[in-house]
Amino acid sequence: MTKPKLIWLNVSFFLITFLIAIIAVPYRAFTHGFDSAEISFAVICFIYCGMSITAGYHRLWSHKTYQAHWSLRLIFALGGAFALQNSILHWCSDHRIHHKHVDNNGVDPYSAKMGFWYSHIGWMLREYQASRYTDYTNVRDIQKDPIVAWQHKYYFQLMILMNVGIPLAFGLWHGNILNSLLLVGFLRLVLSHHTTFFINSLAHTWGKQTYTDKNTARDNGFLAFLTFGEGYHNFHHIFENDYRNGIRWWQFDPTKWLIKSCEYIKLTSQLRVSPEDRIAKTKLAMVLKRSQQKLKSHPDAEKLLERLQYEYDTLVHKINEYYAVRKQVFALKKQQLVEDVENSEPMKQYQVLKQRLADQQRSWQLFTANIA
Ligand SMILES: [Zn+2]
Ligand SMILES: [Zn+2]
Repeated sequence: MTKPKLIWLNVSFFLITFLIAIIAVPYRAFTHGFDSAEISFAVICFIYCGMSITAGYHRLWSHKTYQAHWSLRLIFALGGAFALQNSILHWCSDHRIHHKHVDNNGVDPYSAKMGFWYSHIGWMLREYQASRYTDYTNVRDIQKDPIVAWQHKYYFQLMILMNVGIPLAFGLWHGNILNSLLLVGFLRLVLSHHTTFFINSLAHTWGKQTYTDKNTARDNGFLAFLTFGEGYHNFHHIFENDYRNGIRWWQFDPTKWLIKSCEYIKLTSQLRVSPEDRIAKTKLAMVLKRSQQKLKSHPDAEKLLERLQYEYDTLVHKINEYYAVRKQVFALKKQQLVEDVENSEPMKQYQVLKQRLADQQRSWQLFTANIA
């Protein structure tokens, strides 16, 4: 099969910016050097680009995991043009197809099953899906956002303004235009590009399948560090409506922290989270599946599988009981139906069930750890 036509504009653009970043920038660093203001400003711009994509393009517009004030949407729209990853509309259209048809070669725009290179950057270098290039039927909802429509219409101008205007303005103000163009212009852009591209390539090949093995998405804490929290991609592909990707407080997800912090100053609202019991049960079902596979070849398989199933069923039952009464306690607290919630009957029950769940969790962990 002949490959689709190369898109020479993209090929030369990615190549030239990459070569400048890996050759001209180090050369300049050795021969002339960069000062701390230049480095700091490049880092700030890198973070601005990255977070505009993760918090804006991805979690706000693609998945609608929260609502944002127009001023924040404007900041993200400009940051997205700065990151040079196409308009919000186009990016979200691709991304929604990616979720709906993940790993389906020929439909998923950056299917990981096409290989690492293809999912990282190859998909943008040839006219692979030219027929649907301007089909925005799956993003009609966000087209209603005037900022999205405006950014799409003036994308080219905004992209130039941000990528040439900002490095040039900083260089003029700071006194070294070439340094600023190299660092804030080229290096920042190339780093921003490839760290985002890692989400489609590395986050679909390297890491744990904590919640599902039905698609290639992986959870990877190291990658989360490079991608402003998007490394918990296995979780994200199953709970795509959750504004968080790293759900534990200690999991590195600055995008989640940004969205949450903005809630306190009323810039974001209606943050969506997946029910905790559903997350716990999804994760559990995955451990069950893995343990079953491991036990199959065990000489005592039948007996052990039976015990495994028993432990699993008991745990699921205890999770259901615990979350049901927890919901009651929360409702009591919220509606202030009982004066003394702490000493109420549901609260006592809640404490008991909490302990029982913890005991069963220990029993389950001990049993499944022995299988592994
Ligand atoms: Zn997504
Ligand atoms: Zn993905």
